[in-house]
Amino acid sequence: MSRTDLGPPDYKEMLPPVIKENYGQWLYHEYLKPGVMKHVSEKGDALYTIRIGSPRLVGLDTVRELCDLADKYCDGYLRFTSRHNVELLVSNEANVDPLLAELKQKGMPVGGTGNSISNIVHTQGWIHCHTPATDASGIVKAVMDDLYDYFTHDDLLPARLRVAMACCLNMCGAVHCSDIAILGIHRTPPRIDHTKVSKVCEIPTVIASCPTAAIKPDPKNKSVKVTEEKCMYCGNCYTMCPAMEIMDPLNDGIAILVGGKVSNSRTAPGFSRLAIPFLPNNAPRWPEVTEAVRNIVETWAKDAKKGERMGEWISRIGWERFFDRTGIPFTDKHIDDYIFSIPTFRTTTNFKW
Ligand code: SF4
Ligand code: SF4
Repeated sequence: MSRTDLGPPDYKEMLPPVIKENYGQWLYHEYLKPGVMKHVSEKGDALYTIRIGSPRLVGLDTVRELCDLADKYCDGYLRFTSRHNVELLVSNEANVDPLLAELKQKGMPVGGTGNSISNIVHTQGWIHCHTPATDASGIVKAVMDDLYDYFTHDDLLPARLRVAMACCLNMCGAVHCSDIAILGIHRTPPRIDHTKVSKVCEIPTVIASCPTAAIKPDPKNKSVKVTEEKCMYCGNCYTMCPAMEIMDPLNDGIAILVGGKVSNSRTAPGFSRLAIPFLPNNAPRWPEVTEAVRNIVETWAKDAKKGERMGEWISRIGWERFFDRTGIPFTDKHIDDYIFSIPTFRTTTNFKW
């Protein structure tokens, strides 16, 4: 078959030989130490995986450095996980300790396995996207620097901790289903530049882009109108129409949600729920956000039973106690004003406040 440039290459071409030879026949895996996994196949072959954190946005020098390490210790094989961890795939056990020693000497953090915080899955932020209410990589860097010990140790937390970050509520990250979710939010409707709309925007597409039907035609101005009370500040219209700018330096900021998960183990998957409605966009180190996340992590770590994920802990103690124990104020902003298909603080009669 002739090759085309359409679509990605077959991933099997890029697997290390030990994975190809044992495909579908892996028997078990174990965590040897934080960040070091061993997979053993039915016929006794072993693959060692060394997981290191990355800030996702890396320069060419870092990419070269990682590739050099893969060439030296892993026959050229590494992979990036969906959480932007780098995994070096070692098939020769004798290479494991020298590789760990070189990573230590280079200051590359090894961890993120077992009961630890894995790297934060996150979105594009100010560098790449046009609708962010905050930066993604900047906040992730600040939060992960603050929680560094929980990445490099696997005995400090009751269970694994999955954190997600999306820089607007269109949410390219896993904010709806993570133990802790950091979400960039706009709080003001788009500002329409009527002189530009008819020149740069396709009006029917702009109207159709609004999930709440807040946009209507404005034929007099050859433009559109926004019914502000219907707007949920998602910025989707700005994606379609650059004449409807939504960025607002004074009002944009961050919300924190908690208690979601995708895993089916022990309890069913669940959605995250709002814990903190707004924190300011205090770049470059977002101290209010790092402090809020640390408070939630440490309250959960102190209070939860072994193996209990964030949402399972909250389900056991109840949301009222979650707010009590974390000291997070419960405000009118937590009360939804719409009917949703899942229970919210408003729709469940079990919530007592
Ligand atoms: Fe862009 Fe929103 Fe995705 Fe961030 S979450 S990359 S702002 S669409
Ligand atoms: Fe509609 Fe979202 Fe634009 Fe508001 S920001 S008008 S909800 S598309």
